[in-house]
Amino acid sequence: MSSMKQYEAIIVGGGIGGASLAYFLTELGMTKVLILEKEEQPGYHATGRSAGALVEFDLEPLVLRMIQLGGSFLKRPPDGFCEHPILDPVGVLMMFQGELWVKAQGMIPAMTEGGTQVLPLTPAQVAAQYPVIDPASLDGALLITDGGHLDVHELLWSYIRHAKSRGAELRCGEEVKSVIVDNGRAAGVTTGSGTYFGQWVVDAAGPWATRIREMAGPTAVQVTPKRRTVITFTPPEGMDVRRWPFCANISQSVYFSTESAGLLASPMDEEPMDPCDARPDELGVAMAIEYLKGVAPTLVPRSLKHKWAGLRTFSPDDGMVIGEDPDLKGFFWLAGLGGSGIEASPAVGRIGAQLLVQGRSDLWPAESLSPARFTR
Ligand SMILES: Cc1cc2nc3c(=O)[nH]c(=O)nc-3n(C[C@H](O)[C@H](O)[C@H](O)COP(=O)(O)OP(=O)(O)OC[C@H]3O[C@@H](n4cnc5c(N)ncnc54)[C@H](O)[C@@H]3O)c2cc1C
Repeated sequence: MSSMKQYEAIIVGGGIGGASLAYFLTELGMTKVLILEKEEQPGYHATGRSAGALVEFDLEPLVLRMIQLGGSFLKRPPDGFCEHPILDPVGVLMMFQGELWVKAQGMIPAMTEGGTQVLPLTPAQVAAQYPVIDPASLDGALLITDGGHLDVHELLWSYIRHAKSRGAELRCGEEVKSVIVDNGRAAGVTTGSGTYFGQWVVDAAGPWATRIREMAGPTAVQVTPKRRTVITFTPPEGMDVRRWPFCANISQSVYFSTESAGLLASPMDEEPMDPCDARPDELGVAMAIEYLKGVAPTLVPRSLKHKWAGLRTFSPDDGMVIGEDPDLKGFFWLAGLGGSGIEASPAVGRIGAQLLVQGRSDLWPAESLSPARFTR
C-alpha cells in the first residue's frame, strides 16, 4: 500500500547505527522519523552477530575517544533507558607482543584521561591470574577493569523502544529499492510497499551503505564489508569460565570470551566481500582454532557448538562516515562503523543527531567524520 506521509528523517537500516540515531533524533525533538529495515527484524546483520564487547582500547586516538564517549553512556545509561543492565563489567584483558606492546602502553595516558580504568600486567601476572593463558604468547597486557560484555539485544531494543515512544516508526520487511532525488536533493525512498518522502534520507545500511547511495548516482564514498568469523564451544570439564574477562591477544590475532554457558573465539579475520548474509567458511574456523592454540592451548575444543560470521564495514581510512553527502544534499551517511559500532553507538547516534538537527556537534569536529573527506 502506498504511503505519502512526509517524514523529517527516513533512516535506511535497522541495525545499531539506525536505532541509535533514531533514539537521539527523537530526544532532540525530531520525532517524525521512519526506520526502514529490509529484514523481518532489526539487528539481523552485523549488529546481531557481534561479540558484544565494550573494549575502551584502540591504537587510533580518535577511535579510542569515540568508544570512550559510547562507554560512558553504556556504563551509566540514563534512568529508565533499559529493562536489564546493558554492561556486565567482567573486564577486558588485551595482550600484546613486541612493537604493539610498546604502542599499547603509549595509549595508557589517553585511556586514563578519558575515564577508562586500566592496569598494565606482566606476562607472569597474567599467567598467575588466568592460568589458561600461555605467558610466552605476550610481552605485556592491559587489564581494563570497567569493560566487559554488552547485552546487544537489550541495547538495540532500548534505543528502538524509546524512539517509538517519542513518535518514530519502524517498518521491517521493507527493502529500499530507490532513492528519490528532487532538484538535486534526496527527497525520499521507494520500497516494494510504498513511497516515503523525507527532509533527510539517512544511510545506515551497514555493509550496503554504498549500494544505497549509488541508487542516486555514482559516489566516491566506497565502504567495504569485511567478514569476521566466530566459533563457540564448551570449556574443558570442570573449568568455570563465567566471570572471565573478554580476552584478546592482538599480536596473535585472536580473542576469546564467555558466551552463554560456554566460550566463543574469533581469529579476528577481515576478508573483504560484497554485502551479503555472511556465512563462516572452513578457513575462518580453522584459523580460530589454530590461533587459539597459540595463546590458550588447553581451551582448544574437539568439537564446536556453533559458528557464525558477520560483516564489519570500513571506509577507506577506517574512520566512521557520519555527515551529509557532499554531492547530494539531504543524503546523510551514518556508516563505516567498523569493529566498534555497538560500543560507540551512543556517541555515533548522538553526533549524527546533533549534525542533523543542529547542523553542528558539540561532541566532535564534524570534518573528521564527514564523507566529504573522500571527495576532496
Ligand atoms: C563477528 C563480529 C564481532 C563484532 N564484535 C564487536 C564488538 O565486540 N563490539 C562492537 O562494538 N562492535 C563489534 N562488531 C561491529 C558491530 O557489529 C558493527 O560495527 C555494527 O553492528 C554496525 O551496525 P550498522 O547498523 O552500521 O550495520 P548493520 O547491523 O549491518 O545494519 C544495517 C542494516 O541495514 C539494513 N539494510 C541494508 N540494505 C537495506 C535496504 N535496501 N533497505 C532497508 N534496509 C536495508 C540491513 O538489513 C541491516 O539490518 C562486530 C562485528 C562482527 C561481524
